[in-house]
Amino acid sequence: MVATGDTEEGVRTLTSVARQADPSQEMLVSSLEAILENLTEAVMVADRNGRVLLRNRAAREILGPASVDPARLLTTRYFDGSLVPPDDYPIAKVLRGEKVQRQELLIEWPDGVRRILQFSGSLVDEGDRLKLAVIAYRDVTDLRRDSERKQDYLRATSHDLRNPLSTLLTQAQILDMETRRKGLIDENRAVQVILRNGLRMKAMLEDFIEFLRIDAGLWSLRPRDTDLVRLINDVVDRYRSSPDWGRISFECAGGECRAEVDAHHVERCLENLLGNACQYSPPDTLVQVSLEAGDGFARIAVKDEGSGIDPKHLPRIFDRFYRGDNSYTRGLGLGLYIVKLIAEGHGGSVSVTSEQGKGSTFTLVLPLRQDRS
Ligand code: ADP
Repeated sequence: MVATGDTEEGVRTLTSVARQADPSQEMLVSSLEAILENLTEAVMVADRNGRVLLRNRAAREILGPASVDPARLLTTRYFDGSLVPPDDYPIAKVLRGEKVQRQELLIEWPDGVRRILQFSGSLVDEGDRLKLAVIAYRDVTDLRRDSERKQDYLRATSHDLRNPLSTLLTQAQILDMETRRKGLIDENRAVQVILRNGLRMKAMLEDFIEFLRIDAGLWSLRPRDTDLVRLINDVVDRYRSSPDWGRISFECAGGECRAEVDAHHVERCLENLLGNACQYSPPDTLVQVSLEAGDGFARIAVKDEGSGIDPKHLPRIFDRFYRGDNSYTRGLGLGLYIVKLIAEGHGGSVSVTSEQGKGSTFTLVLPLRQDRS
């Protein structure tokens, strides 16, 4: 994938290419060469035929001595282990005018050592005069290994934290049904406290795990065709065993509403907005969820009749770790931050209108599927 070319030879070749293209540019190219050579980023430059004219010092450090042709020596693979066809090499793609941005490939040395290189490229296209592919690359092997280790750790820890809590909640739900059936009012009240706090703890844990994933750079959206009506019904349905079940309603004009979203993450948004609506409003008030679609967007609103939000908090309410004065239960201040990240990651948004003493409405806006809007 990378042809040989040391810098001195590169300077000569590149300068002669430039001389043919425009004699007055020779000095400029030589100075550019000196700058390139001292860059910490690995850079190589190839001509219109894919022949490498130059690799700077950092580039040679990654791919070995310039006297050896890496194209013959090295094997380039995708992450599934299959060979990358020459057409998909970064240089070839850039020369075809395709975008190469942080493309990661496995480079294998003859002794079996594999490194992950990340390539970004741009095309210098002066028509017949000059056409060059400029490729910058860096070795991200340690970064990726570190991120895999973090992912493994997070997966294991999340599992270990979620499991006992789920068991606890299941047992509390059984006790809830039993105490109701037997008319044990005081005991049922105690179980309701366990359930309410257990569910809050679960919501905080989910936010915390999500936050750690975001912070570790392990966060990504996987949008798929999704019916938002069904998704909202599913989330609301999870409140069936919660003390708030009776006061949550969901209204939607149409039968279905399709959007290209990451269902898991949009569910997370709704759980956060619904959780807040229930938490920051008295238990005998309504929490209304509604869905409207139009102008290419779906608007999911969660309206409560609670304490409302002091206007002084509104500008920072979506910041991470931000908590209002009414957060007497001491939440993590992460829920709305995560909702905002997810909404914006989909090309949407989240906003709030609130009146103190009357309640708040949070509106999540998500783009609909283009072909159906
Ligand atoms: P947390 O609820 O864990 O503190 P959030 O990011 O979900 O964190 O919310 C940030 C702050 O916004 C909360 O501390 C609370 O003061 C305020 N807030 C969020 N939703 C509502 C709501 N529906 N009604 C009143 N205040 C709210």
